[in-house]
Amino acid sequence: MKLHEYQSKQIFARYGIPIPKGQVASAPEEARHIATELGKRVVVKSQVLVGGRGKAGGVKVANTPDEAEQVAQKILGMNIKGLTVRKVLVDEAADIQHEIYLGVVINRAARRVTMMASAAGGMDIEEVARVSPEKIVKVLIDPFIGLRDYQVRQIAFALGLKGDQIRDFGVIANGLYKAFLDCDASLAEINPLVITGEGKLLAVDGKIVTDDSGMFRHQDLAALRDMDEETSSEAEARKFGLSYIQLDGEIGCMVNGAGLAMTTMDIVKLFGGNPANFLDIGGGASADKVAAALRIILADPKVRAVLFNIFGGITRCDEVAKGIVQALQQVPTQVPMVVRLVGTNEEEGRAILAGAKMQTASTLVEAAQKAVAAAKGEEYVPPPPPPPFVYKPRLHAAVKAIRSAARKPSAKKSAAKKPARKPATKKATRKPVKKAAKK
Ligand code: GDP
Ligand code: MN
Repeated sequence: MKLHEYQSKQIFARYGIPIPKGQVASAPEEARHIATELGKRVVVKSQVLVGGRGKAGGVKVANTPDEAEQVAQKILGMNIKGLTVRKVLVDEAADIQHEIYLGVVINRAARRVTMMASAAGGMDIEEVARVSPEKIVKVLIDPFIGLRDYQVRQIAFALGLKGDQIRDFGVIANGLYKAFLDCDASLAEINPLVITGEGKLLAVDGKIVTDDSGMFRHQDLAALRDMDEETSSEAEARKFGLSYIQLDGEIGCMVNGAGLAMTTMDIVKLFGGNPANFLDIGGGASADKVAAALRIILADPKVRAVLFNIFGGITRCDEVAKGIVQALQQVPTQVPMVVRLVGTNEEEGRAILAGAKMQTASTLVEAAQKAVAAAKGEEYVPPPPPPPFVYKPRLHAAVKAIRSAARKPSAKKSAAKKPARKPATKKATRKPVKKAAKK
């Protein structure tokens, strides 16, 4: 789950990271009020869960409360990368001399939490990494030892910090790492961490992404979830405990198990289709859950066919079948469906589905081919059976030469005179090919 800038910065502040004074507004008059209270030049910042708001015109400086109101009026309701701005953060404007990037991420390749920093902050760090990777410093953090002082100094020196800045940076780096751990985050980032005109460090932007699997022990963070920023499908999927990710293909997939779901998507692609989603209904799914999953899939207007791939273990095929029938009663649809049910109670499952108009398949390959054909509105044509297997030994040329020489003892002499290898090889390669062709 992504936290908003204002939420992330409030968390950072609890860990001793300096942030500008400010408050959130959802109406222009509110923004004016906050600006009046701050009594200074302010910056009005759109609160949407995407990066690059600055470039998109979602971050504007205002010199007076009047201006703050006007700017807020413009930014509220703005569409940034597909998201509507519903809130703005009104912060004291910072006197920015320099912008630094500081982030904590999980480095999967190194199997370590990694702190990254760059003196080329402010802009897109992915771009810096691509164009000039030497401008990024990284330290790997041992999970048992934590962030060491020498690592902090290493980053501070690389950033060119001086005197008190180095000490202050230590507080910020340690705070950011601690916040990352305490939130079960997958990312905690300050971009930019600015050096002000007075030479002080200040976290002007903040971002935290938490790991949803850790949310059960963070009721406080879970409460920060912004429902406005979620699609209704995502919200519905979360309510029913489904792992659902919308994609842009045309074949809706309902599968039990993440690995099987990945495989199903791969095979759909292999046969020329595109998955409309990743959906794992999990083990032991009830009919209700299956019905919810199908409703979510069918709510996507791009879906032209639905593929069910259920491997019954803990999950019972009859439960899944009941769920499908239940969902079809609630959401009648013309979208063609292909079902592959195997495992626990598959007979019962098929019997339940017999009434519904559905294609069945006994293998995943067949199921995927049928779904791809159905999505294109084509008739499924079973592929021709593969040609019978013919055993053709492929011998090394030297072995062939020895064998053919052994078969024709009379040829030995003449072979010895000529350059022996070439003719022997030619003969040997030609013969078996002809034989095989005859068969
Ligand atoms: P992002 O574009 O979504 O990452 O939003 P940021 O909060 O990082 O803001 C983008 C840019 O706006 C920053 O890199 C700064 O250059 C500028 N900016 C943000 N806050 C202030 C501020 O208080 N004063 C000034 N002068 N510029 C700011
Ligand atoms: Mn930023």
